[in-house]
Amino acid sequence: MLEAVDLEIAYGAVQVVWGVSLRVPEGAVVALIGSNGAGKTTTLRALAGVLPLKAGRVRLAGEDITRLPAHQRVARGLVLVPEGRQLWPRMTVEENLILGAYTPARRQRVGQHLERVYALFPRLKERRHQLAGTLSGGEQQMCAIGRGLMAEPRVLMLDEPSLGLAPKLVDEIFRFVREIAAQGVTILLVEQNVYHTLQVADYAYVLKTGRLVLEGPAQALRENEHVRRAYLGA
Ligand code: ATP
Repeated sequence: MLEAVDLEIAYGAVQVVWGVSLRVPEGAVVALIGSNGAGKTTTLRALAGVLPLKAGRVRLAGEDITRLPAHQRVARGLVLVPEGRQLWPRMTVEENLILGAYTPARRQRVGQHLERVYALFPRLKERRHQLAGTLSGGEQQMCAIGRGLMAEPRVLMLDEPSLGLAPKLVDEIFRFVREIAAQGVTILLVEQNVYHTLQVADYAYVLKTGRLVLEGPAQALRENEHVRRAYLGA
């Protein structure tokens, strides 16, 4: 469904991603893991088209989208839920959600999509008239994911959805990731929480200082000696 080939990404003269290739098959949950500063966010932002590529190609459902601007990638169903949620704090939950459905075709289906988001996150329905800035961290993350779902994603890219959340909420967010995948949305998940990520992912890539160092089925990585020592505290 989503394929990246030999991505090279730089901030000015400083290259931070080197030759990264990833495949996200339709219906799968694929994870990109690695420590702080490895280049995970940079890779997602380049896939979304908000950062330019120095070299490499990106394909979505067989179409080469390397040169498409970000909004045309969203229109084709490649949707990023950014790190840090980036909600509009002085707008209500529902207004934030509606802003996710910003193309005319999606606007027509806004009611249907709101129902779907509220079915997944009943807490957002209860708080739909509340200002997004007054939500708890976990609720803000739900709102950010909900806003992503409003855009009718074929591939949903989630950047560190568990960041800064209490352990109980972390469990909850990963349960939502599984539910969204069960509804047929393909997911590319970026996380530092390697333990939980390898429980929900089908396949994972490990990024270290801008290069892929390991990849494989999540179950194999859970048993991998290097992963256990470096990321699972074994
Ligand atoms: P984190 O979990 O901290 O977001 P990450 O794996 O997502 O880590 P990136 O945020 O992609 O890593 O950062 C990769 C490298 O690029 C780091 O060395 C970082 O300092 C650098 N970097 C990130 N953003 C910029 C920027 N806007 N300008 C210059 N360098 C940047």
